[in-house]
Amino acid sequence: MKRNHLIKPILDHNYPTVSHGKGIYLYDTDGKQYIDGSSGAVTASIGHGVLDVVEAMTEQASKVSFAYRSHFTSEAAETLAEKLSELAPGDLNWSFFVNSGSEATETAMKIAIQHWQEKGFERKNRIVSRWTSYHGITMGALSMSGHVSRRKRFVPLLEDFPSISAPYCYRCPYESSGCKLQCANELETSIQRLGSENIAAFIAEPIIGASAGAVTPPDGYYQRIKEICERYDILFIADEVMTGIGRTGKMFAMEHWGVTPDIIALGKGMSAGYTPIAATLVSDRVMEPILKGSKSIMAGHTYSANPLSAAVSLEVLAYIERMNLVQAAEEKGQYLLEKLHGLAERFDIIGDVRGKGLLLGLEFVSNRSSKTPFDLQDGITTRIVNKAFEKGLLIYPASGAIEGIAGDAVIISPPLVITNEEIDSLVKILEASVEELQHELHS
Ligand code: PLP
Repeated sequence: MKRNHLIKPILDHNYPTVSHGKGIYLYDTDGKQYIDGSSGAVTASIGHGVLDVVEAMTEQASKVSFAYRSHFTSEAAETLAEKLSELAPGDLNWSFFVNSGSEATETAMKIAIQHWQEKGFERKNRIVSRWTSYHGITMGALSMSGHVSRRKRFVPLLEDFPSISAPYCYRCPYESSGCKLQCANELETSIQRLGSENIAAFIAEPIIGASAGAVTPPDGYYQRIKEICERYDILFIADEVMTGIGRTGKMFAMEHWGVTPDIIALGKGMSAGYTPIAATLVSDRVMEPILKGSKSIMAGHTYSANPLSAAVSLEVLAYIERMNLVQAAEEKGQYLLEKLHGLAERFDIIGDVRGKGLLLGLEFVSNRSSKTPFDLQDGITTRIVNKAFEKGLLIYPASGAIEGIAGDAVIISPPLVITNEEIDSLVKILEASVEELQHELHS
């Protein structure tokens, strides 16, 4: 097979060719089996090769796959929007469909700005976000992201959005003065500095994923954030692209804290990887001035709300309900979390174990008592991911947000259909990988 035309993530890396998948397993063309311990990029939440989805896909494709949304609506897209409004908390009753998480967060930003413009606030267009965050790779989404290594090359072209610290308890910048949710209070300081008349919204991942590895805020954090947003008339956007649709043991991760955002960005688990689809969920309150005003959202893509992806997403949501997978995420997550804590007891290079449901993370340190991170040049994240890969386990690298601050971390997030026996096999390979790495580092 010719291998020099496709631009792959690392150009000189020799990737195996995927052949097929079933349940939590993927296979390459040499017949090697891999446990998909990260659901790809925290995406394949119902597992691979689910025939119900294939049937739904075929049925829709045999009727119509694509009809332009400026010409037609479709039964599948209308039903999906209705279903999401039933599942979402509060008055998040509207959906705008896009194709990727980056488009969903970028659309969220645009809708927030438009909301204020329709109300006559022309200057309310800045977004406040956090360092150690990831909201996507397009320029608007990257502007909101506090992922330094992904921003680096494009900084001159980006808006200067991230301004507050993440609720990164393991590396709390306020450790010496006690928590008091000072990282949440930074939002207020930032608003006062920038002027609330210039700020449209605050955006956050409920549990931080790609840039730090399942960093989970303390109780009270989002309640404080929401209070501040309300006090200063700023919209709260929850980026649930990674956490949404059951992954953390609730349909939406924000439910863990009982806080309802004004806008939610969804992606990944919406179609569990079967087709590209993502969504921006919008509350009645945010839509109201738009419905009274220009009556149109200035966003959208050719493939927005295409019937094929909508039908797939509907079947994925139905499958999640039929198989009780949100509850499974909670229960299996608890089982896996205990096993990961067991690994941390054995290996002192594991500094922190964290996360909720089946979105779990491990952070690696060179000295556990001082929480000293490894030197970046040691490439710890890549080494552990590669060792697991060789042994047939896929895990997700989640580091590089801020050199010297966010440490080396990985995400363990298998499909929600995983069984306890399969978790045991996953942990066995992970254990062998960490053991090998620790041995290398200590010898
Ligand atoms: N937001 C979050 C929280 C994510 O984790 C990601 C991807 O990892 C994105 C946005 C971007 O999604 P996509 O890669 O589908 O554009």
